[in-house]
Amino acid sequence: MTKLSHKLLYSLVFIYTGLFSGCTQSRPNVVLVIIDTLRADHLGFYGYERNTSPCLDSLAAEGTTWMNTRAQASWTLPATASILTGRSVKSHGVTMNVSQERIFGMNSHLPTIATILHGEKYTSAAFFNIFLMSETFGYHRGYDHFQCNPEGHGLAGETVDSVITWLRQSDNDQPFFLAVHLFDPHDPYSPPAPFDTLWSGETLEDSVWTFTPEGAIANPELKDDLIALYDGEIAWTDYQLSRLFAELRARGIADNTIIIVTADHGEEFLEHGYGGHGKTLYDEILRVPFIMSGSSIPAGQRIDYPAAQMDILPTILGRINIASPQDFSDFDGIDLFAENLPSSRRIPSSDLNTGPPFLAAAVTSDFIKTIWYPEYDTFRSYNLISDPAETTSIVPDSLQMEMVLNYWVTPPAYPGIEVVGMGIGPALRDLGYL
Ligand SMILES: [Zn+2]
Repeated sequence: MTKLSHKLLYSLVFIYTGLFSGCTQSRPNVVLVIIDTLRADHLGFYGYERNTSPCLDSLAAEGTTWMNTRAQASWTLPATASILTGRSVKSHGVTMNVSQERIFGMNSHLPTIATILHGEKYTSAAFFNIFLMSETFGYHRGYDHFQCNPEGHGLAGETVDSVITWLRQSDNDQPFFLAVHLFDPHDPYSPPAPFDTLWSGETLEDSVWTFTPEGAIANPELKDDLIALYDGEIAWTDYQLSRLFAELRARGIADNTIIIVTADHGEEFLEHGYGGHGKTLYDEILRVPFIMSGSSIPAGQRIDYPAAQMDILPTILGRINIASPQDFSDFDGIDLFAENLPSSRRIPSSDLNTGPPFLAAAVTSDFIKTIWYPEYDTFRSYNLISDPAETTSIVPDSLQMEMVLNYWVTPPAYPGIEVVGMGIGPALRDLGYL
């Protein structure tokens, strides 16, 4: 079936669905949930032994899950921009020059999921929870309602309250796009009771990694306690999402809503000697969850095909029958439901926000990841099938090295806008960056 006929078929399906449900709306609602700092392998449906995610496990069972999804960056600002724009970091230009302490937000002409859906008559609302996703960085464009708490740790409950209030006030005859970002799994790992003691007998007064002046982890003996509290944050966030999804069902709109859940990046717990994120491009950082569930999404599918954050936007647009800029060719990502997916992919990742080393870029292709450290002009390559923990570097082949270098010199399609005079440096230090 051609792409055009494929889209035509889905148009007819949606019109049919609208007629027989008595609803005038022909396109499904879209709910995009971004959970900060959520590594995929700490969720039940990705094989985790702790019951951290009963709500998301159910959502995954009812929908399609991509089991090998990689982030385009190791920290919030560039990674969320890739989710929202369907582009690699080098392409969207939302990034930071660490050594110069210069930081760049979205170009005002950069198409995002919000600007595209708003242009298609979707009502749109965003509930974000970190200053990096605020108007200052250009994240506000395309929304009828935009709400960003600059320091949103611990606010998953209040945020879901706000979303539910917005849903109850919205007009159900208009399709809506709702973007929700929950920050809670980001450190400090301090979930509210009873989630603080689900897997740890005691709470910690200082539930973060601490560092020596040389940048080494000063409290490695706390690793198991910190992981237990991190898992508690995940369970708390999962519980809050269950409230949001229950509201969609209670309002009778769940069947005509596509829900997407993903994360901006993962978190390290000393697998490679580091804690937190923004420091490496190993899979504890890059592997993120990606679920789609709801209207027209196949149920119970677990897909091993290599996916990326930058695929999320084109895949959503394919599902709701909206031709994207230049009919999808303007994205770095692909529609994962399209026919004839490429047999081999090059998935780029980059952007550290602290060091050492300050700079790194990687390309994952055919389950080989090659990481380049420009300051040392050093390559490291890992076979992710035989060595998923990335413990033993193999000799990188010339094609892999060329792919990374080509990615590194990609000119931004929409150069980021430098954000100045906002005290960004101190704010990033408060987050443990820089
Ligand atoms: Zn983040």
